Amino acid sequence: MDSKQFREFGKAAIDILADYYDHIRDRNVLPSVEPGQLIRQMSEDAPEQPCDWQDVLKDFTEMILPGTTHWHHPQFHAYYPTGISYASIVGNLLSDGLGVVGFNWIASPACTELEVVTMNWLGKLLGLPEEFLNCSSGPGGGIIQGSASESTLVGLLAAKDKMIRRLIKENPDLDPDDIRNKLVAYTSDQCNSSVEKAGVLGSMKMRLLKSDAFGKLRGDTLKKAFKDDVADGLIPCYVVANLGTTGTCAFDPLYELGPICKENNVWLHVDAAYAGSAFICPEYRGFMKGVEYADSFDMNAHKWLLVNFDCSAMWVRDGYDLINAFDVQRIYLDDVKTSLKIPDYRHWQMPLGRRFRSLKLWSVMKTYGAEGLRRHIRNHISLAQHFAKLVKSDDRFVVEPEPTMGLVCFRLKDGDNLTKKLLENLTAKKKVFMVAASYRGRYIIRWVICSLFTTKEDVEFSWQNIKKEADIICISNK
Ligand code: PLP
Repeated sequence: MDSKQFREFGKAAIDILADYYDHIRDRNVLPSVEPGQLIRQMSEDAPEQPCDWQDVLKDFTEMILPGTTHWHHPQFHAYYPTGISYASIVGNLLSDGLGVVGFNWIASPACTELEVVTMNWLGKLLGLPEEFLNCSSGPGGGIIQGSASESTLVGLLAAKDKMIRRLIKENPDLDPDDIRNKLVAYTSDQCNSSVEKAGVLGSMKMRLLKSDAFGKLRGDTLKKAFKDDVADGLIPCYVVANLGTTGTCAFDPLYELGPICKENNVWLHVDAAYAGSAFICPEYRGFMKGVEYADSFDMNAHKWLLVNFDCSAMWVRDGYDLINAFDVQRIYLDDVKTSLKIPDYRHWQMPLGRRFRSLKLWSVMKTYGAEGLRRHIRNHISLAQHFAKLVKSDDRFVVEPEPTMGLVCFRLKDGDNLTKKLLENLTAKKKVFMVAASYRGRYIIRWVICSLFTTKEDVEFSWQNIKKEADIICISNK
């Protein structure tokens, strides 16, 4: 393929995507395919002869698109949002176009430096403490990881290394393996699956502590867990606090957990994967009261900030904690400079290679401006509030817990089986997509505002569908 064909191919692909989004309401949010359909349609072996780019796009529209769940459909209300915007798509395209791998400065100076710049921009927009920012006088800074899961694991591994170094320094006779086997991590029973998995991958026991009636991990619970474990000869090492749990968007009180972690030299990591984006609006920053106690903080710009997957923004109070844990040298990786202010990001992450992810973040921040991003968050929250009002107006339903951010949880008063049936029937009809969770032992349906295309009319359409289905199952239940 030459550059002439590349131009034609690229322009045609962009036209397909623009048409797809212009007409997305003509589709159901869920595809009408059977398991195995695409596997059966595709040839068993890779094509031996080259195909025209037109054939590639034909297969995309005729075989691949029909088997896609439309994550940016206005009626996609499942999980949490995943970011997209035209600005981000173009940023990604530029990154793919350059195809650089920026594991150190010389490998691509702009890749490292644009990441420093955008992480400073974003950290300031979120109102993070200055110590987290590369532009502060201290050793803190930000990095774009691939996912919140990776950030939680990177934090855990760095916490482990830091704890072992500290204890050996205090008592050189200690055996590092012995310390390693005694380290314990803590989070709440409402944590995302990725937090529990970080314990598995990082070989550290992860205790899921019981949250309170509102889904929050309280200070007293953490304090008692530390005390019990220390009494058993174990060593508290790492705590993951959740700002916006996946089930119900509960916020752990950092101002309670933070001082306990500090007192015990325990690393506090904040998982604000979804709700963190809202902190660009000053009115929501109260939810992160106590963030000054954190050692690391992570939010997914690829969730609610209009940036395409993957773009998980992680800040650490002290970059040397990562470098000490992950620095492995080779002659061929020698760089022309060594300054924490221009990081060798390979020491801050798990893989060696890294993509030019900051291009899409930069493209979004530039084209929307802080004002446009705040408007997006506030619009989503107000649409969620409108939906909650509609559900509350129907006395067959209960909305609980009280909605926060863009998530509304609800159930039918007439019991879990009926709520479950309601969700199953709606999923089968493919027009509105939501998933379930549990709250205080009850089965609930989560409705999250996800798509940047969703309007007030779409919210009302969604509610009409839910209401209509409830009419059918409530009548048949009588
Ligand atoms: N933490 C929370 C609170 C989440 O809701 C999610 C995903 O929804 C994650 C972590 C995992 O995010 P990622 O897919 O970026 O690893």
